[in-house]
Amino acid sequence: MTIDVKPLLRGEVNSIKLDYMLPVEAEGVRFDENAHVVGEITDRAGYMRLVLKLSVPYVAECARCLDEVCGVYEEDFERTVVTNGSLSDEQLDENVDEYAVLSENGELDVDGEVAETVVLGFPKKILCDEDCPGLCPKCGKRKKEGDCGCVTKEIDPRLAVLKKLLDN
Ligand SMILES: [Zn+2]
Ligand SMILES: [Zn+2]
Repeated sequence: MTIDVKPLLRGEVNSIKLDYMLPVEAEGVRFDENAHVVGEITDRAGYMRLVLKLSVPYVAECARCLDEVCGVYEEDFERTVVTNGSLSDEQLDENVDEYAVLSENGELDVDGEVAETVVLGFPKKILCDEDCPGLCPKCGKRKKEGDCGCVTKEIDPRLAVLKKLLDN
């Protein structure tokens, strides 16, 4: 959604409320439903803020055991809204998560801010459980399903070096 903030800039309103659904995407995760985006854009004496909360159900894979993990991704974020040209490119590049820039005709690309937040903010690693034991390195069985009987004794790294020397 692109919001025309000129009524705010002209002081005709103090805030613009947002409440809508938006399809989102990020790497390594499936979003079967749209994200629910709720928030507002406010202006206090020329200081404009965008405050948003988004939530979207996700389906991802446990990084250790590859089991399907379902959950709800939630994120709150805020941006200081600045007019086009008021900050240098460097300032903006260094603070992508701080500023949202208005287009030249006074519109704010809220969808773009949400999309960026999801891409950058969605966890790179999802686990089915913090203590997920992962897969057996030998047979590939999910360890949480029980012992597979494989012998996977950890060798002390110092002994491993010694063993290598002896093997040669
Ligand atoms: Zn797992
Ligand atoms: Zn095994």
